[in-house]
Amino acid sequence: MTRLVWFRTDLRIHDNPALAHARRNNDEDTLAITFVVEPQWQQHQLGERRINLMKQAIAELHASLSNIGIPLLTITKASFAECEEHLIKLMQEFTFSELNFNIEYEVNERLRDINVSRWCHDNDIVVNKFHDQCLIAPGELKTLGGDPYRVYSPFRKSWLKEMQEFCPAPCAAPEKQDETSISQNTLIHWQENTNLPKWETDDEWIADENSGHERLREFLDKDALHYHEWRDIPDLDATSGLSFYLALGLLSPRQCIYTAWQSNACALSGGEEGINTWINELIWREFYRHLLVAYPNLCKHKSFKPDYDDIKWRDAPDDFQRWCDGETGYPIVDAAMKQLKERGWMHNRLRMITAMFLTKHLLIDWRWGEDYFSKHLVDADLASNNGGWQWSASTGADGAPYFRIFNPTTQSERFDSKGYFIVQYLPKLGGLPAKSRHNPSAAERLQCKYPAPVVEHKYGRERALETFKACAG
Ligand SMILES: Cc1cc2nc3c(=O)[nH]c(=O)nc-3n(C[C@H](O)[C@H](O)[C@H](O)COP(=O)(O)OP(=O)(O)OC[C@H]3O[C@@H](n4cnc5c(N)ncnc54)[C@H](O)[C@@H]3O)c2cc1C
Repeated sequence: MTRLVWFRTDLRIHDNPALAHARRNNDEDTLAITFVVEPQWQQHQLGERRINLMKQAIAELHASLSNIGIPLLTITKASFAECEEHLIKLMQEFTFSELNFNIEYEVNERLRDINVSRWCHDNDIVVNKFHDQCLIAPGELKTLGGDPYRVYSPFRKSWLKEMQEFCPAPCAAPEKQDETSISQNTLIHWQENTNLPKWETDDEWIADENSGHERLREFLDKDALHYHEWRDIPDLDATSGLSFYLALGLLSPRQCIYTAWQSNACALSGGEEGINTWINELIWREFYRHLLVAYPNLCKHKSFKPDYDDIKWRDAPDDFQRWCDGETGYPIVDAAMKQLKERGWMHNRLRMITAMFLTKHLLIDWRWGEDYFSKHLVDADLASNNGGWQWSASTGADGAPYFRIFNPTTQSERFDSKGYFIVQYLPKLGGLPAKSRHNPSAAERLQCKYPAPVVEHKYGRERALETFKACAG
């Protein structure tokens, strides 16, 4: 009997519960499969850069599985429906005792898994599903009234209580399998039908497990202790930069939290302030995943607060384009948008500033911004992106109250006081004194060929307040 492991957004061999389960006792043969589904990924708003990195991650996974004697069949398909069909055909052609996979929480992915699981059930193939994206499975934490948490702070409290200051250890990569016991027929099928995707080296990101581990170690050895003081200063680049590895499943949240827990004298909340604060951010990540499962409408681009689906957003494609291109005339917003295009990543403080600027000052639908971020971020992730956008637009669970509108200039003065970040991405403002970089005068703008503000702050703020007030329940 042979066991099958189906890899999706868990492209790693360490701490992969589905893989570890398939290799338990090292007694039965294990084969693996994954799909490259570019058109479906594009339909899910993933951009070119991210897709290229996913292809690299699949090629790297193929190599690491091969080192431990597990053949990976890599198939190119156009849609999840085609993947289902292919997988079922394969399970009809070869005899499998079980199918193992780690759960994805998005609606289309869940429907795909339900269809495949149903077929397996009818055909006596055991399906083993695991939660590798959260330390506590969605649905397990409930309020006293038995409802899902809608607010982060009590969720965090409940999460920490459940964990009891303890973090289970990640599981190791399996031992090497002796491939000679797998039938020749099967091995030949796996080799002849594997179509490894072509990918190009990215200027900044390396999509393999080792790079993720190195970055985690380096962050915990260096910046983590100051995380609570430095995490909001974009110019310091003092956050972990691990969201990309987490989004592709090159690292698991358990590996991150466990390593942090070890560095924190075995505490999740009572140790070093920097590490505690960092763990809290990973709990935000879990919170948004729990919400996505409890409120599947979030996958359908609905506002968490239904009243806000009536907001009269402006249909302003030119303003939107200026935002995308970093031409709004607000240096901190523009520098951030240029960072996004250049690095495929944006600092969290800047994600909040730019998202709030789009949805409040420009009064443009958060869905436009969510879509644009998703297409440009290498860490694009439906739960966190949707959560972040709805938080900023005040339409989400535990979102910022609609009347709290960041003033981009004040944010800039506070978090980039010398304007170092601004000039990194807008070098044309480098000749201005630090004070002027946040909001250059008309003459300075002319001199630097920098545009006038797309909207005046006070006017934009008041327009947003009036519009939101009309919908606030
Ligand atoms: C409008 C908006 C859109 C966002 N889109 C995404 C997205 O598509 N993908 C994504 O992973 N994160 C998203 N975030 C959350 C956050 O900005 C990034 O996770 C973070 O900036 C990644 O950098 P880092 O790995 O250095 O984070 P660190 O500060 O080192 O944090 C560690 C990890 O905690 C998690 N995390 C941190 N902050 C948050 C948060 N606010 N919400 C959820 N998880 C968090 C991430 O997995 C991150 O890697 C978004 C936030 C906003 C406001």
